[in-house]
Amino acid sequence: METILNIIDLGKTYQSAGRILTVLDQINFSITKGSTNAIVGPSGSGKTTLLGLCAGLDRSSSGIVELNGINLGNLSEDQRAQVRNQYIGFIFQNFQLLPTLTALENVMVPLELRGEKNIKARAMDLLDKVGLADRSHHYPAQLSGGEQQRVSLARAFSNSPSILFADEPTGNLDAETSEKVVKLIFDLNKEAGTTLVLVTHDLELAAKTQRIIRIKGGKLVADEKTING
Ligand code: ADP
Repeated sequence: METILNIIDLGKTYQSAGRILTVLDQINFSITKGSTNAIVGPSGSGKTTLLGLCAGLDRSSSGIVELNGINLGNLSEDQRAQVRNQYIGFIFQNFQLLPTLTALENVMVPLELRGEKNIKARAMDLLDKVGLADRSHHYPAQLSGGEQQRVSLARAFSNSPSILFADEPTGNLDAETSEKVVKLIFDLNKEAGTTLVLVTHDLELAAKTQRIIRIKGGKLVADEKTING
């Protein structure tokens, strides 16, 4: 089985008021290409920090994050952004859409940044895929939470990522909407072989993946296959 993400002795510390706070301590795991994985653990245990490091949004204090064989720690900020553009999709709990842009424009941004052609038509296709073609000219404030999350999915899918990281993708959604969002994420895995790494509180969602990695107090305390694994 091919490895897409390799985490070796990963550590993250913050300095606050002259004290060093260890948020992640000697984390080790690797993720297989095309697999589905959940990261679970109590609030404050370091899950969001871990996801941000894996996705190259932040730098570790120690250890290695290797994505598709590329050591992210050796890269400049710009080079990490390139790796994100090329391989990574990221979904935030609070959607992080740009409020002054319409749904369509939000999806067009990463396409534009990559210098792609026919971006308007491509962005419309992506919105159609998440069932929002008829909301393309709405601003985020005019959309429900579930609709905003689906726009952010369309945006995250726009570079056909090899790996999708999602931080509490259903955290702010009602049960019915959350089901729709989960289906879209897992369809991407089935149809395009996209590797999934989901941080979640939702144990039902975690149980749909093949593997559950449990974090507590910044340490990896369990790493188990589910019945799907
Ligand atoms: P989780 O996602 O599991 O709730 P987080 O990764 O968000 O946990 O946070 C883990 C710990 O790191 C928390 O104690 C949080 O307060 C701390 N933390 C996160 N970001 C920072 C930061 N920029 N500066 C200082 N402490 C931080």
